[in-house]
Formats: sequence, C-alpha cells, structure tokens
Amino acid sequence: MNHMTKDKLPEAYERMFNRVFVCMKCNARIRADLQRVRLGKVKCRKCKSKSLRPKAKERRG
Ligand SMILES: [Zn+2]
Repeated sequence: MNHMTKDKLPEAYERMFNRVFVCMKCNARIRADLQRVRLGKVKCRKCKSKSLRPKAKERRG
C-alpha cells in the first residue's frame, strides 16, 4: 500500500467533483467553478436554468 497515493486521492476527487454540476431541471451536466455557480453566473446550456446542484452530493455505493 502506498500511503502518499492514498492521501492524495480525496483531494483529487474533490477537485474533479467540485467543478461538475447537474441541472435540476433537465439533469444536464455542467462543468463550472463552484464560486461562479454560487454567484449565479453559470447557466445550464440546454434550458438556461440557474438551478444547479453539485454532482459531488450524488454518492451511491
Ligand atoms: Zn437544464
């Protein structure tokens, strides 16, 4: 087991998933910075909705 690799993994995952959001209306995936989404600067490409939720909260199995 490599401890260093294990420690770095969660951070890498966080970076990846913090930038992926899911449109609550049409379920389209949008890549954007968390801050820009919070400021309401990011819209869904398909339906122009600003209702986005972070993909990170979707944890199954
Ligand atoms: Zn949408």
